Amino acid sequence: MKDKNPEWETAVLENRKAGESSQKQQEKMKIAEKPVTQNGGQPATGVSERRFRQTDLPAHFIERRMRPRINTQQPPPQAPPRLEDYEPIIGKPELDEIRFLARHLRGKTVKMVNSTAVGGGVAEILNRLIPLMSELEIPTRWDVITGGNDFFEVTKGFHNALQGGEYNLTQQIKDIFMAYSEQNRQRMEFAEDLFVIHDPQPVGLVRSKSQKRGKWIWRCHVDLSNPHPGVWDFLKPMVEQYDATVFSAPAFTRQLASPQYLFYPSIDPLSEKNKDLPEEYVNKVCDDFGIDRSRPVITQISRFDRLKDPVGVVESYKLVKKYVDCQLILAGGGATDDPEGAVVLQEVMEAAGDDPDIIILNLPPWSALEINALQRASTVIVQKSLKEGFGLTVTEGLWKEKPVVAGAVGGIPTQIVHKLTGVLVHSVEGSAYQIRYLLTHPEFAVQMGKNGKEHAKENFLITVNLKRWLLLFQVLLGMAKPNAVL
Ligand code: UDP
Repeated sequence: MKDKNPEWETAVLENRKAGESSQKQQEKMKIAEKPVTQNGGQPATGVSERRFRQTDLPAHFIERRMRPRINTQQPPPQAPPRLEDYEPIIGKPELDEIRFLARHLRGKTVKMVNSTAVGGGVAEILNRLIPLMSELEIPTRWDVITGGNDFFEVTKGFHNALQGGEYNLTQQIKDIFMAYSEQNRQRMEFAEDLFVIHDPQPVGLVRSKSQKRGKWIWRCHVDLSNPHPGVWDFLKPMVEQYDATVFSAPAFTRQLASPQYLFYPSIDPLSEKNKDLPEEYVNKVCDDFGIDRSRPVITQISRFDRLKDPVGVVESYKLVKKYVDCQLILAGGGATDDPEGAVVLQEVMEAAGDDPDIIILNLPPWSALEINALQRASTVIVQKSLKEGFGLTVTEGLWKEKPVVAGAVGGIPTQIVHKLTGVLVHSVEGSAYQIRYLLTHPEFAVQMGKNGKEHAKENFLITVNLKRWLLLFQVLLGMAKPNAVL
């Protein structure tokens, strides 16, 4: 390993002014649209080939890096796990506690409503949570609201506006939102004991709340710390009709008349993305993508989105590479069907230049097992976001006992206690310094990985989330006191 320049560490500007990097970022944002990559979104072969003209990498790595073996077939869905399957992970006492809490709720009915049955984190979590609740004899129904393109255009606009984006809210937009809200409300029945309405799209269903029966919860997965004032003023009176609201991080909330609860997002340790994998499978995936397991691997898994700062990751890697012989994997999706993603992928390719050790993978949406394997094959996991929701890739890295280096934004500081469960960074140079430190101090990296896994187990597993729902349901139905939840 090359690791020679002691001055470099002190020269690194970990505390470089945040303003400087955000200014740089804004400049990057202004980059004009560039042509979309061909070849199904994979980096163009010509570009890849140029990168391998002068390299002493063995031929099989070059071949796979130029033509990665990407799974083009969507695998059949997995059967959802049963509660007892979690026992080896969380232990019997924890499972008994869940069963005990559920006993009082047996026979109570729940309706969960969101805006999509497939795709996105909310659908992913509901797919797991609902069978577990039903197994606990709490019959839980999942309904999805419907609407025309005009409705989903409005709700997409709201989604961005609530996270601080510009928006021109007109009376016509409000009318579209309310008309579809009303249409869904008329179409659905509301006979359950508990209603959990996810995110802003179906928030208006609360007009069906009856004084006699049923408690209503609004589960907000969006960061509301800096919402567009007009959009928030429009939605807030609906939100305040709920009996409780649930947010994903303390920083994401707003002042509300209704009680608020904090539920971290969660991952399923038995899902394809997170379950244990045999080492042979991890090796196979590395072979398929031309990854050399004899040298350190730095990985960022993310959509090709500027807010995930993939170009910043390449720059950090290049600084590290001067001292430590390592590889960088940037794996993500979204570059095939999202024109913006294709532009960002192109920028990443340009930033990578002719370095054959930068492996860029545009993966299809059914790549959970491959992503799992890539995370497990990594020496350091990076999530150098400039803006973030909760940052589930960080949770996934922690769960896999990896040292994680991540931007101190959104929900990431909730997951990373600096230098204990991971490392928080604010700049290209800062992340380069931290990555290099971890690569050259493996004992520290191992300990941090262990701490990270414990932190994830305590706070961010689906079983923890399930327990919180059970407690909140008890509170709302008058079976437990609120401080049992918070
Ligand atoms: N992910 C994926 N394929 C990709 C990129 C990301 O399946 O090509 C997954 C990733 O493993 C994580 C989720 O998508 O589970 C991304 O969640 P996160 O909160 O990190 O970011 P978001 O994309 O929601 O902003």
